[in-house]
Amino acid sequence: MVTRSGHCMCGAVTFTATDVSSEFGACYCEMCRRWNGDRFVGVHVPIAAMQINGANQISTHKSSDWAARSFCKACGSNLWYRLTDGPDAGNYSVALGLFDDVSGMKLAREFFVDRKDCLFDLPEGRIQMTTAEINAKYGLSEEAP
Ligand SMILES: [Zn+2]
Ligand SMILES: [Zn+2]
Repeated sequence: MVTRSGHCMCGAVTFTATDVSSEFGACYCEMCRRWNGDRFVGVHVPIAAMQINGANQISTHKSSDWAARSFCKACGSNLWYRLTDGPDAGNYSVALGLFDDVSGMKLAREFFVDRKDCLFDLPEGRIQMTTAEINAKYGLSEEAP
């Protein structure tokens, strides 16, 4: 079992997960798109494997009859998605970006790909900016947050 730690943008919510899947999934449903501004990318963690600090900083929105989505009240970071009903109820789909280290993890499944037309694949010929180029263009003196 792989243990991984993570935290929200401001650090008010931290967690340690002791049984983290090496595979993650992406969801293209409309709820996830509105919640994240784009697809949601999450990692499955069983409820018993999740240790959370800062629980009083977590707000949870029941987004449907069978699922809820949580975010940090202090900084607004999206944290995780959980089913509230059925055999998988209570388990976490933790936002991939919260983990301190995602080495060895890979995209294994995509959900609602028939709705993917709400998004777009990144086009060829786009501008790709490095940290140094962004700092130069926007006058930043240190690494972008
Ligand atoms: Zn936070
Ligand atoms: Zn979704």
